[in-house]
Amino acid sequence: EPGLYIVAGPIGNLGDLTPRAAEVLRLADVVAVEDTRVSARLLRHAGSDRPMIPYHDHSAEGVRARLVERMAAESVALLSDAGTPLISDPGYKLVRDARAAGRKVTTLPGPSAAIAALTLSGLPTDRFLFMGFLPAKAKARGDALDEVAALRATLVFYESGPRLSESLAAMAEHLGDREATVSREISKAFEETATGMLTTLSARYADAPPKGEIVVIVGPPGEAPPASAEDADAALREALERLP
Ligand code: SAM
Repeated sequence: EPGLYIVAGPIGNLGDLTPRAAEVLRLADVVAVEDTRVSARLLRHAGSDRPMIPYHDHSAEGVRARLVERMAAESVALLSDAGTPLISDPGYKLVRDARAAGRKVTTLPGPSAAIAALTLSGLPTDRFLFMGFLPAKAKARGDALDEVAALRATLVFYESGPRLSESLAAMAEHLGDREATVSREISKAFEETATGMLTTLSARYADAPPKGEIVVIVGPPGEAPPASAEDADAALREALERLP
């Protein structure tokens, strides 16, 4: 059936490609991809010989318009280098334009590193905010963190090894020290999740930046800070006075 098929791929382990996703990759008229070299490997794994077209949301306007045009009569699969398209990856403008043109839009759901890391964290999952990649520059990064510091929500960040320690330190500074986890290489041979306070984790990675792909999960702010010792004394005196 013609239309746009959003296809989630694996985030490391090829075995995580769903049978339904593999079928769409085999049947699609064309597969829109970020990087043809990366996706060629997955298409081979899926047994697909379908043609690929490079696509980014910043691709020339004409590229997107032509894809939307093709969706009238053909099936277009959208695939990312890893995980779910549109999640810190290209695609939202393609979906927007496909919808505006009245094309059929459907998804083949699958892995996303954000959700995988959240489930590994042991931190509250009832309310979370996906922050994507923090800005590289210190000022913009601090502003982005200040903006969410008061939210009672678990925060999800994508990170890279070389920046990890510095980012964790900035989080501690702007959010206050909190419980956090660092998950890397999820679903791959060297999968690992480290837990601790932001300051502790930052120190741990300062001299040994980890290799591979990383997701940082930061817990919500704690309860209000304990009252000062003076307040506690006063409360205790009052309570004692009320005793019979
Ligand atoms: N669309 C992808 C998804 O659904 O997760 C994310 C794409 S984003 C460009 C790539 C980032 O995702 C990496 O820098 C890393 O933060 C995270 N990531 C991807 N695969 C991962 C894995 N296997 N383990 C940990 N983090 C991963």
